[in-house]
Amino acid sequence: MTSSNPPFTIERRMNDLRFRTVALASRERLAPNYVRVRLEGEDLAGFESPGADDHMRLFFPAEIPDTVEELRAAPSREYTPLFWGDGWLEVEFAVHGGEGVAAPWAATAPLGARIGVGGPRGSAVLTGTPGSWMLVGDETAIPAIRRFAARIDEAPARIVIEVRTREDEITIDAPVDVEWLHRGDASSGSALIAFLESLRAEDAVGEHPFVFIAAEQAIVKPGRALLERWGVDTAQAVVKGYWKRGEAEYHAPH
Ligand SMILES: Cc1cc2nc3c(=O)[nH]c(=O)nc-3n(C[C@H](O)[C@H](O)[C@H](O)COP(=O)(O)OP(=O)(O)OC[C@H]3O[C@@H](n4cnc5c(N)ncnc54)[C@H](O)[C@@H]3O)c2cc1C
Repeated sequence: MTSSNPPFTIERRMNDLRFRTVALASRERLAPNYVRVRLEGEDLAGFESPGADDHMRLFFPAEIPDTVEELRAAPSREYTPLFWGDGWLEVEFAVHGGEGVAAPWAATAPLGARIGVGGPRGSAVLTGTPGSWMLVGDETAIPAIRRFAARIDEAPARIVIEVRTREDEITIDAPVDVEWLHRGDASSGSALIAFLESLRAEDAVGEHPFVFIAAEQAIVKPGRALLERWGVDTAQAVVKGYWKRGEAEYHAPH
């Protein structure tokens, strides 16, 4: 479907790797199982996140240690920088029912609690203007989808997000209506997988699409199959497992 010379590229850049400590300044519950937290700290001066699907590593030590080496030894998880400014950074967390470190912290840590922030170490920067947009994900991908959605102009676009129930839907600023899929009590990703598998070549969102698909790891295979059916080069797309069922601290392959 897509001919050569697409109107955009995804450029990989390395950033200066910095480690910072921040404190929990406020928490807003956007849905029963989804919170936005505001982190603050002087260390955040100069924080940058050039890529919409950048990730940073949040470190959760029992107490903030004296050295970066000790901080890096603490349990850590990957999160998307959403909004930031001088001395502050906002991050959104899916508060999943599984055990873990990050989600319980986001849901229950007292204001003032301190964590570490490392990175983003590298960025994939979308340069140019896609002919169309296809943004697909579960709760964990909402921050990245928000950031991509902010870049959509007049181009045809679809935004498809899976959550458990209607109660879990969240307001997202975008020029098109978000299509919400409800998995109910079925396994995470099942509604998205069925949706991706239902799309044929003729359902392509438009010319030269930028495709972003991120959810539980099982999404990767049907996501890649969709790229093939739509004739989208994998270098012009992001298809990623953001977490893996039954596995703590999953490291997504880059
Ligand atoms: C590039 C990237 C960016 C990401 N950005 C965000 C983000 O901005 N916001 C966000 O909420 N998440 C994001 N994630 C996902 C997040 O890193 C994982 O969900 C992480 O495992 C959560 O850590 P935890 O300590 O809460 O649970 P863990 O200790 O890692 O896992 C404990 C158990 O919970 C399960 N589990 C983990 N995550 C989920 C989930 N979402 N739903 C159901 N069960 C789960 C695991 O399979 C395991 O069984 C991102 C991941 C990547 C790779």
